Amino acid sequence: MVRIDDVIDAYLTARPDADISKIQRAYIYSSKQHQGQLRKSGEPYMIHPLAVALIIAEMGLDEASICAALLHDTIEDTGTTRQGLAELFGEDVASLVDGVTKLSGVNFNKREQRQAESFRKLLVAMSNDIRVLLVKLADRLHNMRTLEHMSESARERIALETREIYAPLADRLGIDWLKSDLDDLAFMHLEADKYNELASSVEKTNKERKAYIERTIADLRGFLEDAGFEIKVTGRLKNFYSIYKKMQAKSLGYKDVHDAIAFRVICKTLQDCYAILGLVHSRWVPVPGRFKDYIAMPKANHYRSLHTTVVGREGERVEIQIRTQKMHEIADAGIAAHWSYKEGSLPDGSAKSFAWLREMLESQNDVRDSVEFLETVKVDLFRDEVFVFTPQGDVKSLRRGATPLDFAYTIHSEVGNHCSGAKVNGVQVPLRTELRNGDMVEVTTSKNQRPSPDWLEMAVSSRARNKIRSYLRTEQREQSRRVGQDLLERGLRKFGCSFSRFLKQGEVERVAKEMRYPSVDDLIAAVGYGKVEKEEVIDRLLPEERKTKPPTEVKEGRLEKVFRRVSKNDDGIVLDGLDNLLVRFARCCSPLPGEDIVGYVSRGRGIVIHRRNCARAAALDPERRTRVTWSRKAVSQRPVQLRVTTGNRAGMLAALTEVFKNNRISIESAHCTTNGRNRGINNFTFMVKDLSQLNELIKGLKQTKDVIEVERVNY
Ligand code: MN
Repeated sequence: MVRIDDVIDAYLTARPDADISKIQRAYIYSSKQHQGQLRKSGEPYMIHPLAVALIIAEMGLDEASICAALLHDTIEDTGTTRQGLAELFGEDVASLVDGVTKLSGVNFNKREQRQAESFRKLLVAMSNDIRVLLVKLADRLHNMRTLEHMSESARERIALETREIYAPLADRLGIDWLKSDLDDLAFMHLEADKYNELASSVEKTNKERKAYIERTIADLRGFLEDAGFEIKVTGRLKNFYSIYKKMQAKSLGYKDVHDAIAFRVICKTLQDCYAILGLVHSRWVPVPGRFKDYIAMPKANHYRSLHTTVVGREGERVEIQIRTQKMHEIADAGIAAHWSYKEGSLPDGSAKSFAWLREMLESQNDVRDSVEFLETVKVDLFRDEVFVFTPQGDVKSLRRGATPLDFAYTIHSEVGNHCSGAKVNGVQVPLRTELRNGDMVEVTTSKNQRPSPDWLEMAVSSRARNKIRSYLRTEQREQSRRVGQDLLERGLRKFGCSFSRFLKQGEVERVAKEMRYPSVDDLIAAVGYGKVEKEEVIDRLLPEERKTKPPTEVKEGRLEKVFRRVSKNDDGIVLDGLDNLLVRFARCCSPLPGEDIVGYVSRGRGIVIHRRNCARAAALDPERRTRVTWSRKAVSQRPVQLRVTTGNRAGMLAALTEVFKNNRISIESAHCTTNGRNRGINNFTFMVKDLSQLNELIKGLKQTKDVIEVERVNY
């Protein structure tokens, strides 16, 4: 049974001069609180916090972590409050205990493997301090060591949780011994028969194995020391669960698992590692494909070592790991190594490491004292993700900043497309609400709900945004196809033909091929978009004899034609990354590239672009307002109409057109009159590429002699 003196001894090993009074107070307080409580084994409850504290102390963690370990069950199991702990032991200890208590509230009771990763991340995300996780892991380790006192169903649940959640977590944190212990304990409880079988096989071959290990160590040491290396060589049986997995994967018996023993060569320098590898390979034949260089390419948890398997003197496979003392310490203690060794033990930063680990390593540079270091580490783990629950208790991982809309799309794209409302933790919230870790999210759907362009501003996940975009595109395309079909049908009627008939006869397909459209629908949609003139399609469809009959089409006004031409070009409007929009420019204000604009989502007619200060736009429904910008390469020209009031003199018009010519603007139409008071009123319609070109022109016109006023005219 662990005593408080054992904990304090372990603590003092890492910090010989440390003050131990707070740890002692925490012990006394916890003992009082847990007084009278018993473990399932019938022993006093206090043996558990003490055992956890010893694990934490042996990991080399700090005073606050040890106090937290001693106190970790007081909030949950006794009358203690967080506030009370803060007053007695300080905010640091209180927040650690509080953190551990919160983690206990999260239970992994789904037996679905795909959930495990999310649960692990949730645990990490909920621990705003890495020490919370370490205390939780130590707590779990001791509970696993004493699991035999629990009921069978509890045993199975806890052991499975340990295998799925906690052992991989220890692995992520790089704490090798903890991962192995947790795995073996879970193995013992989950597959007791297999475990016992393996244990007895191992037991039977104990003597043999020991002798073999000694022989091999002597061999290795012999030729490495002869070559002048300063080394330590060890050999040990790997943990049971990893041997068992190997036996399973290759359907082997224990006797046939040759690499159940791992030999380790610990040397001085990184160069030695490679030199030793070379020497080993020259003595013993390496097994092809078994060499791994985790020094050049460390694992995500910063594990570094060389691994190789060779054929030993007795013809058996020998697995050898070669590493420096520093690498070894990191490999064994993982993240805890950062507390144990004050300087110089950090692995080289690797771009592939976890962001939080990188952050810890970076902040280490500025902070010498590890206690101070701890305080600065408020780790923002998995900062790019947020974890929320479905009403069924499943965990969903979303991008940080995600909204209920993103959540809806992770359920199903149809749920997303018809998402009409959301509740977070039982409270109705707007769809644009940002979700937080641990939120329980519920969405409602409605048959009539459809994605709208402003949803793109609410969703952050690429999945949701892609689905919304694709819905909008399909909808636009469908609209364009309907418009196109209608235009063609009416156009052909004037020639006494039917578009539908051409369609049935395959004539439209022929034309689509001629015009290099992938399908009939693409061609019709292109007409609807205005990318192709309907006349061109009609011309290709009509048999020669019909073409002579003159069309009775009403002549379009000149401006109509100008607008029609514009719509064929790239309109240069970008709505939050969504291109190829069905866009119309409002005629009331005819916005120009460079001007502030807003978009209004119209029913069935795409997005209508207004100038931001347009009075007519201001009267529209703000709900339908959406943010649009000009794309940087807005290549299209836009029509503008100016009214230039001048004195009435000969050559006035020539002077004005000269200004247009100087600005390289060609006039589409000009309408010039005089009024009774000797004034010339000149209306010009022309195309400009942007606001600055227009402003240059207006400046030029105003400087022209006898020009009285220049105004932009809205249609
Ligand atoms: Mn506990």
